[in-house]
Order: sequence, then structure tokens, then C-alpha cells
Amino acid sequence: MLKVTKEDANGTVLFRLSGSIEENVNFEQQFGSITGEVCLNCKDIPRINSVGVKSWIKFFQAAQAKGLKLQFIECSTAIVEQINLISNFVCGGSVESIYAPYSCPSCKAEQVGLFMCENIKKLNFELPDLDCIKCGKKAVFDDIPEEYFSFLMR
Ligand SMILES: [Zn+2]
Repeated sequence: MLKVTKEDANGTVLFRLSGSIEENVNFEQQFGSITGEVCLNCKDIPRINSVGVKSWIKFFQAAQAKGLKLQFIECSTAIVEQINLISNFVCGGSVESIYAPYSCPSCKAEQVGLFMCENIKKLNFELPDLDCIKCGKKAVFDDIPEEYFSFLMR
């Protein structure tokens, strides 16, 4: 179940989204009428299904038509997947930062690393290793750069 909380940060309206986006989602009710510049924090969206995607696009496209400018930050891997699959998923908005999946070859632990999209491009899509949260050895990026970052290569 999606939960949306609103914060005002220096004139920018920030919405934090948490929970899965599925059949029961009601964006109209949770966001109300939104216009202007809005920032969406998508860190805590573990899952979005096809019905959720349809509701998402319907709601944000209508808002975009009314002049809404969206900025996406801290996109979860589930959201990055949709951004890659559906070209208008961000509805004219910009994607500032995303989580990338990592895994540890030594202990098999999985984790995510947060990166600014601008920096990912600067790194030429080759992300640095991270320290494994469990064993402290090196965790490596665990996806195919051409697929996971395809929206940045468009
Ligand atoms: Zn490890």
C-alpha cells in the first residue's frame, strides 16, 4: 500500500513515496491537486505492477498537462526498471539520482548504492565497487550497464 508524505523544503514541494504501487493505489486522493515544481523521492517503492504503472502514468500525465514539473530523486531499482521499460514513465520530468543493485561475490549479500545520474554519465556507466555491508569485502554492480542505465543512454 502506497503512503505519500509531503514536505516543504526551501520552496520546493517534496513528496516521499513509500510502499508498493498496485491495484489499490489512488494518486488523486494521496497527492491532491499538484502543480508547479515537485520533487518525488522514490527510495521506498519496492514494487510497482502493471496496473500501478497505468495509474501512475494517467495521473502524472494529466498533471504534466497542467504544467507540473517533476523531479525524481533516489529512485528504487523497481522504479528504474520502469523508467527503462516505458519511455514516458517520468512524464517529462528529470531523474536526478537512482539506486543501483550491488552484490558481494564473497558472501552473496545484496545491497544498493545511491548515485547521481550526472555522475553515472561522468563515470561512463562504470560504477565503483562498494564495501559489502555484511563482510566488508568488495561488492560489485550487479546488473548489465547497457540495460540498467539505458534511460541515460537514450
Ligand atoms: Zn560480503
